[in-house]
Amino acid sequence: MSEPIRYKRVLIKVSGESFCQAGGFGIHPAAVASLVKELLPVIEMGVEVAMVVGGGNFVRGKDLAADPRIQRATADYMGMMATVINALSLQDTLESHNIPTRVMGAIAMTAICEPWIRRRAVRHLEKGRVVILAAGTGSPFVTTDTCAALRASELNAEVVLKGTKVDGVFDSDPMLNPTARKYDRLTYRKVLADALGVMDLTAISMCMERKLPIVVFELLKPGNLLGAVCGKGIGTLIAE
Ligand code: UDP
Repeated sequence: MSEPIRYKRVLIKVSGESFCQAGGFGIHPAAVASLVKELLPVIEMGVEVAMVVGGGNFVRGKDLAADPRIQRATADYMGMMATVINALSLQDTLESHNIPTRVMGAIAMTAICEPWIRRRAVRHLEKGRVVILAAGTGSPFVTTDTCAALRASELNAEVVLKGTKVDGVFDSDPMLNPTARKYDRLTYRKVLADALGVMDLTAISMCMERKLPIVVFELLKPGNLLGAVCGKGIGTLIAE
């Protein structure tokens, strides 16, 4: 028997680091292929998938603007451009598997993507197209985590699936502390109160207000994404 689908419409947040080799820079086609490999079974199950892509493999506004010669807003727009590059690589890789996709950009780039129009995005999802959301919110001073919470709310997605390098939220950095303890479940309030660095606090508060669950999980661990979509207790669930 096939897996029961827990969520029918999901918003997957993929960081820029998933588009390159560990600790690397730019686009590494094999890394994008690994990501798509995890997406395929979910898409083939008929789950409606919207994706927000980060851009940290090229530019993070905050880091670039540490140099006083580049303004934070400018650096953030550069970061948004970076997400567009990632979105296009994801689009082609998905389409190489005959998965229909649309890239929708929050900044007008008519030659390469559609503009973000909520009702049109919903229509794409209903038609089984993967909607790849590029250029974040189109506004500086936030990150793609906030964009994920915002677009998930707009699209009535049932969950935000936040893919990371580690298997959920820990009480300390598991990369540095081998005894770090993983949380199976957390409340939004605990994440906010303890400032657990899992997602932007703006994104967490937006999800809290909308009662939108977040699953933080290891994106590239085989079968994890599918498990998260099926509500199999993968990673850490953040909810009320
Ligand atoms: N960014 C922005 N507004 C948005 C989304 C992104 O200004 O709505 C900029 C910001 O500078 C951010 C960069 O784009 O650092 C890349 O996005 P992010 O850091 O979220 O990428 P990730 O860490 O997920 O790879």
